[in-house]
Amino acid sequence: MKPLKELTRPNIWALKPYSSARDEYNGVEASVFLDANENPYNQPNNRYPDPLQKELKAMIAPVKKVRPEQIFLGNGSDEAIDLMFRAFCCPGKDNVVAIDPTYGMYQVCADVNDVEYRKVLLDENFQFQADKLLEAADENTKLMFLCSPNNPTGNNLCRKEIEKLIKEFQGIVIVDEAYADFSDEPSLLAELDEHPNLVVFQTFSKAWGCAAIRLGMAFASPEIIGILSKIKYPYNVNRLTQQEAIHMMQKHYEVERWIKSVLEERERLIEEFQNLPCCKHIFPTDANFFLTRVTDAKRIYDYLVSKGIIVRNRSNVTLCKDCLRITIGTRPENDTLLQALKQYE
Ligand SMILES: *Cc1c(COP(=O)(O)O)cnc(C)c1O
Repeated sequence: MKPLKELTRPNIWALKPYSSARDEYNGVEASVFLDANENPYNQPNNRYPDPLQKELKAMIAPVKKVRPEQIFLGNGSDEAIDLMFRAFCCPGKDNVVAIDPTYGMYQVCADVNDVEYRKVLLDENFQFQADKLLEAADENTKLMFLCSPNNPTGNNLCRKEIEKLIKEFQGIVIVDEAYADFSDEPSLLAELDEHPNLVVFQTFSKAWGCAAIRLGMAFASPEIIGILSKIKYPYNVNRLTQQEAIHMMQKHYEVERWIKSVLEERERLIEEFQNLPCCKHIFPTDANFFLTRVTDAKRIYDYLVSKGIIVRNRSNVTLCKDCLRITIGTRPENDTLLQALKQYE
């Protein structure tokens, strides 16, 4: 890996972050807070939240087997994606490399930040070769984006190739593990200490059932986390979100049960779905959704909408012609989908 200073935008490296009232106070137990121009009434929402989310990070660290200094928390993974561009990519000069197809937000954030986005096509099994991504890179490539299990394809990327890319690329490799809780493959978090250029994204939005609270996690070296923390909005994770996440950490066991149910339903739904006349192929999945090639994606999508059932039409995505992406719901929801498709002609 190149020195972090060389990878970071010079203005960001030199940046002196905004220092909030709650940042500067740090020490003895205090009971009178007259430092932040808050309203003394309307407890507890009158107070600014902890800018570094210390209590929540202390709970996440042992569950993920990382140190609190290796955790960044943001307003969804989307904030972490955007901050990676703002921290490392000079607009109009630097570029990033990503697999194609994958999650659409990487490209949107690249475009918003005026950073060139280089796509490398996956093969027919939706796998990639590290060498092809490395070939697409040049001296201005700062980041590479992988997503495993990948969205919208659903499959895990080959671990050997991921590790090869992390070892050989001189910039930063981001592996988005939004769906890792649904997969048998162990998380790359276990290898965080071996790879100073690895950033792993996870989220509360999927297995944790908390898409509404907007909480994303990035895990990396304390140096990279320090840069993200320096440039984020001071109060990027609000108090209600921190509270709810702390509450969720306390009922961890329930998340395990949800995952088990979703995986059982995934197996059942795929089994039944395969027998539908409109289903041509189901791609292997390690996530809480599957990608299926159907006889006529647009017509089936519209038909399902008319029945009040919404799936994702991915027909216009690279390599996904006539494909629908279907999220696993509850058993009754999945049955409603199957019933509707049995009547489709
Ligand atoms: C759903 C999803 C996320 C989650 O994004 P949040 O902003 O945390 O809700 C991240 N990455 C991928 C690939 C996803 O599909």
